[in-house]
Amino acid sequence: MSNPPELRPDLANALVPDARSAGQPMIGMVSLGCPKALVDSERILTRLRAEGYAISPDYGGADAVIVNTCGFLDSAKVESLDAIGEALNENGRVIVTGCLGADPEYITGAHPNVLAVTGPHQYEQVLDAVHDAVPPSPDPFVDLLPAQGIKLTPRHFSYLKISEGCNHACKFCIIPDMRGKLASRPERAVLREAEKLVESGVRELLVISQDTSAYGTDWKGRDVKFPLLTLARDLGQLGAWVRMHYVYPYPHVRELVPLMAEGLILPYLDVPFQHAHPETLRRMARPAAAAKTLDEIRAWREVCPEIAIRSTFIVGYPGETEAEFQTLLDWLDEAQLDRVGCFQYENVAGARSNALADHVTGDVKEDRWRRFMERAQAISEAKLAAKVGQRLEVLVDEIDGDAATCRTKADAPEIDGQLFIDEGFESLALGDIVEVEVDEAGEYDLWGRLV
Ligand code: SF4
Repeated sequence: MSNPPELRPDLANALVPDARSAGQPMIGMVSLGCPKALVDSERILTRLRAEGYAISPDYGGADAVIVNTCGFLDSAKVESLDAIGEALNENGRVIVTGCLGADPEYITGAHPNVLAVTGPHQYEQVLDAVHDAVPPSPDPFVDLLPAQGIKLTPRHFSYLKISEGCNHACKFCIIPDMRGKLASRPERAVLREAEKLVESGVRELLVISQDTSAYGTDWKGRDVKFPLLTLARDLGQLGAWVRMHYVYPYPHVRELVPLMAEGLILPYLDVPFQHAHPETLRRMARPAAAAKTLDEIRAWREVCPEIAIRSTFIVGYPGETEAEFQTLLDWLDEAQLDRVGCFQYENVAGARSNALADHVTGDVKEDRWRRFMERAQAISEAKLAAKVGQRLEVLVDEIDGDAATCRTKADAPEIDGQLFIDEGFESLALGDIVEVEVDEAGEYDLWGRLV
């Protein structure tokens, strides 16, 4: 007999402690998409858990299943529809939420039997739909909520969402249509959440939003010039690693870098440059399109030489000429970024870039992607080779019979590289921060031994 189908293993691990007590309703969750969607899933589960629902690690045990969808790319939409179909087959009682829920007909057209469809951040509506499908059964003994809420990431790191929405209008992106304008959380609320997380054992906070550098700029009558700087300084006092994601290269970002040099926040910036040619950036309508990005990078490195810069790029954007692409390759050679991701441009239903002229053929996109990644890989390899012999602090993410899988300060979970310790690691525990000496380097990963 085959095992019952399970929900995503990371969710299942996070949720295993929820044994059902008599009469307690059980909800399953399938969480797709980006870290921001993951944070939404955590919030929904936290609220449900607080109301006395238990969380099921498999379809069979759930009284209903929530599918938190992603609608960023057409491929993500297909994945979301597939996940809804799987949940319907395996369980039958399905509530859909998340980005794709902004277009309910698209979902009900493919899956008319879903119980309800709600859009992104419609927490109350999701909870209402759950209450309708599976009424709550409060029990003071099983409702006790851990102070940090329900986490879907391993216990020692956590995403910290500081705002919703975005005030930009990049032509390839429909997130502002789906998620609305920038709405920053009050600093007190962010800090309170961060404090609880650190008290509960979180060693690393990953700050996320659509545009982290714009944090707080939507506050009316604000008296702080650069609210992210204040927030970063306060987060840095909590004693955990603080990692900044989705920061745009505005000039005021230079003010953050001294905090990295001081060791208050990690010397790491995730900056989605997307391209380097000014014309391509203009056609994308990117924020900070006119920024002299190489000058900014140089200035950051002058203040904090060990800063690791990560970025993502799109190749084959409509109208991208070979000369524009070559500018991007030359820029990459100069910028010497530590970590790089690259996507081939894809039309997204509803995005304004679809209507641009001169779409690039699939073969050319593939060829540019390959050339870009070869260049990025060579840079990564050389940068990692230079770390051999260095002593670095690493955070232990996973331990199995063969090795401890760790990350350096230059590596974010899931998207960057890893450092493996394959000798003498038996006494380590998840979330430990230890010093290692690097003794081997590959294209993306490192190997080291405990000092
Ligand atoms: S900055 Fe651009 S890509 Fe990012 S969410 Fe806003 S519109 Fe989309």
